[in-house]
Amino acid sequence: MTAFDPIKIRSEFPALDQTVNDKPLVYLDNAATSQKPKAVLDALERYYTRDNANVHRGIHELSRRATVAYEDARIKVAQWINAPDSDELVWTRGTTEAINLITIAWGLDNVGEGDEILISTMEHHSNIIPWQLLARRKGASLRYIEMDSQGRLILDDLPSLLSERTKVVALGHVSNALGTVNPIKDIAAAAHEVGALVVVDGAQGAVHTKVDVQDLGVDCYAFSGHKMCGPTGIGALWARKDLLESMSPYQGGGEMIHFVGREESTWAKVPHKFEAGTPNIAGAIGMGAAVDFLAGVGMDAIAAHEDELLAYAIEQVGSIEGVHIYGPESLEERSAVVSFTLGDAHPHDISTILDAEGIAVRAGHHCAQLVMKHFGIAATARASFYLYNTKDDVDRLVEGLGIVRGIFG
Ligand code: PLP
Repeated sequence: MTAFDPIKIRSEFPALDQTVNDKPLVYLDNAATSQKPKAVLDALERYYTRDNANVHRGIHELSRRATVAYEDARIKVAQWINAPDSDELVWTRGTTEAINLITIAWGLDNVGEGDEILISTMEHHSNIIPWQLLARRKGASLRYIEMDSQGRLILDDLPSLLSERTKVVALGHVSNALGTVNPIKDIAAAAHEVGALVVVDGAQGAVHTKVDVQDLGVDCYAFSGHKMCGPTGIGALWARKDLLESMSPYQGGGEMIHFVGREESTWAKVPHKFEAGTPNIAGAIGMGAAVDFLAGVGMDAIAAHEDELLAYAIEQVGSIEGVHIYGPESLEERSAVVSFTLGDAHPHDISTILDAEGIAVRAGHHCAQLVMKHFGIAATARASFYLYNTKDDVDRLVEGLGIVRGIFG
């Protein structure tokens, strides 16, 4: 493998090569969505210009090619998270749909009155609302693992939160609002002792580190293509095959049936049972190309680069007077996200001022209002890093924050 060179990697991402407000773009909103490398854009173009056809349907060359590319992508993405079998990977629109799929296809049949669903106050709304909807429909209750002052889960509370009433434990692998990395393997082991299903929101997990669902020992892992160099509108739910086989269909329509009768029908084998209608064929192929691209760079090298950038960013941004950085103090426990406030400056103003400097950061509650409530704030500004970011990007951010300080004192 060649040495990791962020400048060379950067040149693979056309969108990074532009000016915004007459300044070279610094893109630090990767936790929201990443930019896309040429390899992914080429794969999309190739599909649409050469192979465009519906999958699993036509007995003609284009349909055959499209089906092969679509199913090859499933194999690549399944291998990416070390799934034992690519049939365990269901294509979805993204993490949000993957979690909703579980709450409906598994939850409606397996969660009942008096049962408990354990989540945490660190969750993205995608891993709260589907469970709230399920709890309301089924008369179950939601319980929460709380966070400490550094935004880490208080796992000492876990034994008292888990009981035979706990039907499911659903947690984020990595917090998008704080960067906290959760010890999923330990939590999964504890949850399984009481017979609970373990669902992981891996939207920020599969992005930065090599995920091994078998080693994590979880039952379901949900993730999105667009945060890991792939297209929008595609993602996946991985779940154990026996679990998928035991679940009811999620949506009905073409592709998901075996035989259709007037009153009753039977279902296609997994994963197709969960993929009603024409799928996002180009998206799946693009996500497969993204995985190839990331594997080519090397996930260990990406993780090492991001760790270095994170340490530099925390040191540089943290030393600006008035800045408060949220999330774990130990770098071991966090991912490449720096969520912060600066004195009395509203995060939206911070983001607007930075945008005028060509620097893209996120400002708001990051779809994690319970996190904001925990810290008694309405919003933070968030800089999130990826493989193509450099220390120069951090320096530009720090310069921009200097301007914010100049305005807000
Ligand atoms: N979970 C986390 C931790 C996220 O960061 C996000 C997106 O920001 C989601 C879930 C939802 O992902 P998507 O919008 O791709 O479905």
